[in-house]
Amino acid sequence: MEVVLIAIVIHVYSAFLLTVTAWSSVINCPRDRSSTVRKLVQNVIVPVFASEGQTVPRTCSFHKERDPYWEQEDNKIQESANRWTCGFCGKTFIAEYYLDLHYDNRHQQYLRQVSDSVCLAEYCDIFRCDVYPGIVSVDFWDTVLCLEDDMTELRQTCQEVVSSCIPEGLPEETSYWMKERIFNASCSYLTCKSYWHTDEKLSGLRIFLQVFVNMAVFSMMILYYILAYQHFYCQIPSDENKQTWQLERITLSHRRNPERTRMYRPYVP
Ligand SMILES: [Zn+2]
Repeated sequence: MEVVLIAIVIHVYSAFLLTVTAWSSVINCPRDRSSTVRKLVQNVIVPVFASEGQTVPRTCSFHKERDPYWEQEDNKIQESANRWTCGFCGKTFIAEYYLDLHYDNRHQQYLRQVSDSVCLAEYCDIFRCDVYPGIVSVDFWDTVLCLEDDMTELRQTCQEVVSSCIPEGLPEETSYWMKERIFNASCSYLTCKSYWHTDEKLSGLRIFLQVFVNMAVFSMMILYYILAYQHFYCQIPSDENKQTWQLERITLSHRRNPERTRMYRPYVP
């Protein structure tokens, strides 16, 4: 009897630990970074599969149902740019960000953790999660400190991930072209030269605004330093000081050349 009870306790405890571990890994999967990878998968990988009449296989890390957030994502209803509706309860929000917060607070029961779940944020390195949505842009030190060896390693990882997603049994040519198209749209950017490149082109208005704002900030800084210099290092002489300075100057001049300054003694009332 005691042995049976101990076995039941161990079983329940193990199940509890598994549950806690599963939920922890879901919670530790960043929703925003997963979202960036998901959008790239939908924009880059899924269309390639669709064009060949294929679907992403379950063995691929990017299979929709391996994403813990897939059911919540399926229940996002975007009615316009500023109107997002929760498909579970019907509440409406002005931005996707607030709908995500609502899911975190109210609908965690729709997070799906299964044995082969994949946190898409783990692929942020190869999908450039910081570059693609414009969170960071290239600066001088990024390019100087970039190591081509690191990029080669990332590119190889990307190739392996892409290859693992191509279904087996396809004609060799189809398989080759699918890999090539996905590689060109994602892995090919993993070089020091192209890492910060995005396909998004700056509009003329945006360039003008950036130049205008930079010039305005620069002008304000120059003005600030001029005013600060005048305030701290230049004194406006009072009438009394002017007279004192004049006397000092004439006295000094008189010592050097008494004959010349005899006629110009200042009037002191
Ligand atoms: Zn809801």
